[in-house]
Amino acid sequence: MAKTIASRKAENKTYPKVIIYGAPKSGKSLGAGKLAEEYNLIWFDFENGSEVLEQLPTEWQERIQLVSIPDTRDFPIGIETALKVVKGKSKICDEHGKVNCMLCTKTAKDSDLSDDELFTTVDVNNLPDDTIVVFDSLTQLTNSAIAQITRNQPDDYKLNYDDWAHLGMLLDRFLSYLQQAKYKVVVITHEVESETESGKTIIVPLGGTRNFARNLAKYFGHVVYAERKLKKHVFSSSTTDSTTVLSGSRTSVDLQKDGVTSLLPIFTSADKKNKSLKDVKKDTTTKPTTTNTKSADTATTTNSSATINDSVKDKLAALRARTKT
Ligand SMILES: [Zn+2]
Repeated sequence: MAKTIASRKAENKTYPKVIIYGAPKSGKSLGAGKLAEEYNLIWFDFENGSEVLEQLPTEWQERIQLVSIPDTRDFPIGIETALKVVKGKSKICDEHGKVNCMLCTKTAKDSDLSDDELFTTVDVNNLPDDTIVVFDSLTQLTNSAIAQITRNQPDDYKLNYDDWAHLGMLLDRFLSYLQQAKYKVVVITHEVESETESGKTIIVPLGGTRNFARNLAKYFGHVVYAERKLKKHVFSSSTTDSTTVLSGSRTSVDLQKDGVTSLLPIFTSADKKNKSLKDVKKDTTTKPTTTNTKSADTATTTNSSATINDSVKDKLAALRARTKT
């Protein structure tokens, strides 16, 4: 059935897809955890990095559903489970982090334990709007994919061209699902140095090879860089924050300017927009041709370009000089 642009826009709710990255102890996991102030989180923990969430108020912690996936070099289950979870309803065993685990299904049958006691079920396609899915971390998923690709190889095995291509394919599949997802997503990862096409060194989110990492931003609407400056956590989400660090947002949310170390404003501003879309939808039933609401997806983004204009550069230089003294 043909749809008018107005009605399609009205259906076009925004589901923010955020990648937050930075060095260890830069506050990225905590910054994602602070979303529990207003949202329920389903937190996929692939690297046992969730202790930091204990710093959050107890009331917030109660809104975080932790799904631990014990991914190791010898049992690289992470990438397999992640690829199944993003597709739809998944029953994950608590012991191995495996979807539809045969072993745990048998245990349930043989014992008087119920499925609910041994498995966690997550259905990403039927999540309420107040829920955000967090993947911690893409670093570990990369390691998991490499371990899976080289599973039957000797310890000193060196990955060849086909292996790297395979890695890119697995990560592309995972990230493409997230890109299309009708739910809110946060991916946490570390930082890595890469090079722009003009040969400039730039810090980008880690995922797959350096080349893959350089283009990682395309799957996300928001790229947030977390760092520690003068013993404080600082988040940048705006393209103009730095020339050497990749960050950017499809909306006007500027975490650094506002001094915020939580991802909350990105999601609350999207929800505000969604609410106004709902109002437009009501309008369209009477006068379908008029709508002034601009979808966030049509906003331009300069995520991949690290160029900034000179006046901003000057301001930044002045700012840096000031913070040094
Ligand atoms: Zn199991």
